[in-house]
Amino acid sequence: MSNKTKTSGSTQSIYQPDAVFVEQNCRNFPLTEEILSRLSHVPVYEIQDIEQLETQFKTSQNDVFGEGKKNLVLSRFNGSFLKKCPGASPGMVCCNYYVVNLAKNCIFDCSYCFLQDFLNNNPLQVAYVNIEDLLQELEEVFAQFPDRAFRVGTGEITDSLALDSLIPYSNSLVPFFNKQKNAVLELKTKSDCVENLLDQPDPTNVIVSWSINPQQVIDLEEKGTPGLESRLHAASLCAEKGYRVGFHLDPIILIPEWEEAYRGLVDTLFDFIPASQMEWVSLGSFRYRSSLKPIIKSRHPETLLFTGEHLPGKDGKFRYLRPLRNKAYETIRGFLQEKSKELSIYFCMETKEVWEGVTGKTPRSDEKLDAFFDL
Ligand code: SF4
Repeated sequence: MSNKTKTSGSTQSIYQPDAVFVEQNCRNFPLTEEILSRLSHVPVYEIQDIEQLETQFKTSQNDVFGEGKKNLVLSRFNGSFLKKCPGASPGMVCCNYYVVNLAKNCIFDCSYCFLQDFLNNNPLQVAYVNIEDLLQELEEVFAQFPDRAFRVGTGEITDSLALDSLIPYSNSLVPFFNKQKNAVLELKTKSDCVENLLDQPDPTNVIVSWSINPQQVIDLEEKGTPGLESRLHAASLCAEKGYRVGFHLDPIILIPEWEEAYRGLVDTLFDFIPASQMEWVSLGSFRYRSSLKPIIKSRHPETLLFTGEHLPGKDGKFRYLRPLRNKAYETIRGFLQEKSKELSIYFCMETKEVWEGVTGKTPRSDEKLDAFFDL
């Protein structure tokens, strides 16, 4: 039975920065004009360059990272946008793809977010406005390697859609990827900000994926994000429009009575989206570098992230102990398979041993994962 009721917690258009800083050489970009026209009541300051502002900012705030999100910088990205996904760390099997970073930082405030550590020295909310340079670069690279299938994600150090009603990157990216013969765009989000996507005439070559968790986990660990049902409602609209949609149950957090919570999550997921419309579901457990732990404890004292024991893996990241991870994956995979035997399920950022322990099979090679996501 479908239960597509829109719930509260929507983020559509609610981001209001305290101030906007515009780098001198960015004033004349069309995207700058567009963003500023939507923030006419917010003070705007022109700056020479972002480094100076970051230095000033870091010395004047207590919660540098939290305050950084409230200040939007419009900047120009110099250099090459397209990078190989850095997720392929030692000992891990990674879904092989490329990333472009059009923005830095995120308006949401998840307790487990690695950006709190990664961006601690440059915590401002940055948006790059020279999207024309990105499109030109992508066009050249895709043409240079016509036999390669490119999967390009924009959600490595930001949420791909959270700011899309203010900074409508998708209005440029979707029509561009529609025309590509050897590339797909992957937008990864926790938001429900899909208005621009729904206004596009063509969903070809675009995958939209949602990171989801039980509502109890969202309430406790994913501050500022739309609720589970808002995300799934947005996903159902995109699926109906013809976009390919995927779901990341990631990070799985083993709260007390997690089995019940994740069973409820899987039930709700299938209430909103039929299995035939899900490209894939990925599973990933909570993981972190040791330097992140004190930041989480200080910024999110009420977190339940550290109630269990964690050990470092070959990539230096701490995870739940392997038997516990295996149990969680087996259990949640079982819930998913009860709903659909055909569903494609994979494990993100996991060891070969976990893939084998849970599936009984050797993990896919990068090539096979590429084929899995084939055009
Ligand atoms: S949505 Fe993603 S990028 Fe944003 S705060 Fe949460 S984990 Fe970080």
